[in-house]
Amino acid sequence: MQRIPIIAGNWKMHKTTDEGREFAHAVRSLAPEGKVDTVICAPFTSLDVLVQELQEYPVAVGAQNMHWEESGAYTGEISPGMLTNLGVQYVIIGHSERREYFAETDETVNKKTKAAFAHKLIPIVCVGENLEQREGGKTKEWVREQVLRAVEGLSSEQAKQLIIAYEPIWAIGTGKSSSAEDAQDVISFIRSTVEDAFDAQVAAQVRIQYGGSVKPDNIATYMEQPDIDGALVGGASLTPESFLQLLEGALGGKK
Ligand code: PGA
Repeated sequence: MQRIPIIAGNWKMHKTTDEGREFAHAVRSLAPEGKVDTVICAPFTSLDVLVQELQEYPVAVGAQNMHWEESGAYTGEISPGMLTNLGVQYVIIGHSERREYFAETDETVNKKTKAAFAHKLIPIVCVGENLEQREGGKTKEWVREQVLRAVEGLSSEQAKQLIIAYEPIWAIGTGKSSSAEDAQDVISFIRSTVEDAFDAQVAAQVRIQYGGSVKPDNIATYMEQPDIDGALVGGASLTPESFLQLLEGALGGKK
């Protein structure tokens, strides 16, 4: 089963709408077609302009969060239907920064993951351990629990389309990336966790990214690993040059 690699830029709280537009103009005609799925996950304020500017090009647009309800008295929140109405196709769920600073829990991650599928959005569900858990040998136990809680109640058909991003918290934005072999080890374990929750077919199809200080000069080493299907990239996704180099590097690693 050949899985199409997927590279997603996570802009976090960066770029105004005008800066988003400029970025789209700089990358859109240079993004490779077909061999790698490419996504930009932008702040809500840039989603509309990115969808408009990228609609003829092989770059999809994702949000970085959403609420699970369709509508209601939830001041400041954005619903799944609001995203799909714009033409957004992906949504990051449960990024560690949201878990840490905005009270995201395994329960809300699960609700949002189910809501995403109900609205035909593809969720990119983030999991990963902190430094203390890593040093205490608890990585797999922790990540397994996060994955199992996130996928509770999904159908096999939904789970096959899921994207999981394994992002060790100690590697995010620190320049201390996990070695490709360590990332492969955890990611193959995540794949077997998906097999336990569903079956071998689902596990063979689910795409699992690595994230945490991925750069143009190290992305190929991750992509060479058999179970790593792409990357979720923060800092190195912010300039057009670096973003395009990531796409090239991703293709290089999967030749
Ligand atoms: P980073 O962020 O690439 O800047 O480490 C990754 C992420 O948080 O998704």
